[in-house]
Amino acid sequence: MKQGLVIKSTGSWYTVEDEQGNTFECKIKGNFRIKGIKNTNPVTVGDRVTFTLQSVSADEKEAKIGLISAISERRNYIIRRSINLSKQAHIIAANIDQAVLIATIDYPVTTTTFIDRYLASAEAYRIPVMLVFNKTDRYDSAQLEKMEELISIYENIGYKCLTTSAGSGAGVEELKNALKDKTNVVNGHSGVGKSTLINLIQPGLNLKTMEISDLHKTGKHTTTFSQLFKLDFGGYIIDTPGIKAFGMLEMEPWEISHYFVEIFKISKNCQYNNCSHTHEPGCAVKAAVDNGEIAPSRFISYLGLLEGDEKYRPAF
Ligand code: GDP
Ligand code: ZN
Repeated sequence: MKQGLVIKSTGSWYTVEDEQGNTFECKIKGNFRIKGIKNTNPVTVGDRVTFTLQSVSADEKEAKIGLISAISERRNYIIRRSINLSKQAHIIAANIDQAVLIATIDYPVTTTTFIDRYLASAEAYRIPVMLVFNKTDRYDSAQLEKMEELISIYENIGYKCLTTSAGSGAGVEELKNALKDKTNVVNGHSGVGKSTLINLIQPGLNLKTMEISDLHKTGKHTTTFSQLFKLDFGGYIIDTPGIKAFGMLEMEPWEISHYFVEIFKISKNCQYNNCSHTHEPGCAVKAAVDNGEIAPSRFISYLGLLEGDEKYRPAF
């Protein structure tokens, strides 16, 4: 019996890495099921698994083939819904230490709505987030001020923020340190500088995430090829083709405020237990927005999610 980390999944074969960094091509034991999870891929990248080597012959190759018999309990996992928005979800990675959102004040603009939706999703997935504001070399004084304002909002509610410039190299070392020894998922709008930054951190790493998916071409939900890319200095970046950010979880309206950390905290002082923070008297959240304790942009994002009428909010 051996233990290892699943670093690649092609749907039927899984590449598992052991403590020593040796890799094994594994299949799943036939009768293997995870209780409670209806899924097309019971094992995903980031899973810690127990496997046995297949009958070892003189052939080196054979010894590298294994059979997965158990997976460890997941700390968290991210899903992608099937492209046709059916109920079927696909687990694309597990045991993620950190979600990194690369944002820009401009070129292209990352809105607070987008940031807040991302944060709410990450909270729902129970994944810590780090916000990275890139392209600082391009900002004029008004944009720098805007960035500082956002950093202050997000740091105040507990999110780690970094500023980088892939152009000048400022902050890149800090980013590298922040990714080190963690399993990271990196997201952000196209054009914010994800590939440029990652290339500076580890030259030659060419993530498929950066390309817009083949999925749209085929128009159907096919096998997901996820991979953990090892960082030379320690840690991994998850490459999940076809998504630029993880999909929004399906949230019930009452749940949404749970994922806005500061709103949730303050809501304990609302007069009504089931306060939606929209019209109720004695609402501590609205009072906190009025007195500046909660940033208006955050409250607006909250209301936007609350009012969104799609049952399945689209991936973003
Ligand atoms: P991605 O789509 O998020 O992977 O973005 P890219 O890494 O492809 O970057 C998009 C464009 O922005 C490219 O032309 C990069 O050279 C440029 N870029 C990325 N980071 C910076 C930066 O910090 N400063 C400036 N001035 N340009 C940048
Ligand atoms: Zn309230």
